[in-house]
Amino acid sequence: MVQRSLREQRQVGRERGRIEQQRLELDLDQHQQRLELDQQPGLDPEHAEHSDHAEHPDAEHPDALGQDLVGQDLIGRMSATILDGKALANQLVGQLRERVGELQTKGVEPCLAVVLVGDDPASQVYVRGKEKRAAEAGIATRDHRLPAETSTRDLLELVDRLNRDPAVHGILVQLPLPAGIDEQRILQAVDPRKDVDGFHPDNLGLLMLGRPRFVACTPQGCMRLIAAAGVDLTGKDALIVGRSNIVGKPMGQLLLQANATVTTAHSKTRDLEALVRRAEVVIAAIGRPEFIRGEWIRAGACVIDVGINRLASGKLVGDVEFEPAKARAGSITPVPGGVGPMTIACLLANVVDAASR
Ligand code: NAP
Repeated sequence: MVQRSLREQRQVGRERGRIEQQRLELDLDQHQQRLELDQQPGLDPEHAEHSDHAEHPDAEHPDALGQDLVGQDLIGRMSATILDGKALANQLVGQLRERVGELQTKGVEPCLAVVLVGDDPASQVYVRGKEKRAAEAGIATRDHRLPAETSTRDLLELVDRLNRDPAVHGILVQLPLPAGIDEQRILQAVDPRKDVDGFHPDNLGLLMLGRPRFVACTPQGCMRLIAAAGVDLTGKDALIVGRSNIVGKPMGQLLLQANATVTTAHSKTRDLEALVRRAEVVIAAIGRPEFIRGEWIRAGACVIDVGINRLASGKLVGDVEFEPAKARAGSITPVPGGVGPMTIACLLANVVDAASR
């Protein structure tokens, strides 16, 4: 899944370090020049910056700086390692199949109950995808499809039945639930020992205490991708953009437990660009197409793009501007084919863990 040898990665790392050093020196020079401009009487600094851009539209574009320093060819060769989430997920599903085989010899048939309420087409696609992958791992699934008009009470009754059924090891309630249903009540009703999504307050609390039981699948997938990139998180500046309960918050805990120095940005954050420019690891979980500009990415950074956004053209893109980010990053996940497949594989890993307990 990682398409470069360790030796090549180290070489590229050293090259990046050298280029980043040159960039920093150039940035400092430019900063100094700007200060000098600002100090000239009668010259409006804002205007000075704009006219600078007008003359040299790419003057502050880091890629342009890279080209000036090392040439297009080297930048081309420095393109990031693409973290192939599909291949990594296939590997994980293969390992799970072996574990399922071992469980079956002990008479345990790992089983996931999938609850889908309503007829949201996207949810139907997600559920089909999860069931298909479960079958590949040898995990049995039980489908519970309910009409959109289902009441919270009826859904609670179903969850209760599944909680008490010893043949069911994991329960997945596909989100979002229709507007009339109390989502939090439903998620809290799932037995925490069958909560393979890792959304139950008990499981989120255990994660916070550093004693994880079921870790939410998307952040877990991100951590596996970072590990596959060979990134040692110790002491690294890690930035998560997004603070949702299912991605951003658990992600922060996992990064913290891996000894990264963690910053979480959100819609009220000031100067996101400055935070991204500083980060050695960026996790983008916003839900806005290509919101994080490629030119903001620090040279050599590990970029994990959780976002899935469909453009009017039908094309799927992430939260990060992929091509220019790829030219600067050390490693980066594509969309599609990055975090998405890993999320499903991690769900199945949680089911196998549940069945093994
Ligand atoms: P969410 O609940 O809508 O949260 C989005 C987060 O982004 C919020 O914390 C929000 O801040 C923040 N945000 C919004 N605008 C921002 C801005 N201008 N600057 C900085 N932060 C901003 O979304 P989610 O469920 O975490 O999902 C995020 C994305 O990941 C979506 O595209 C979703 O489809 C995708 N996703 C993918 C997978 C996968 O398997 N690949 C799994 C889950 C989600 P506030 O809190 O201040 O509003």
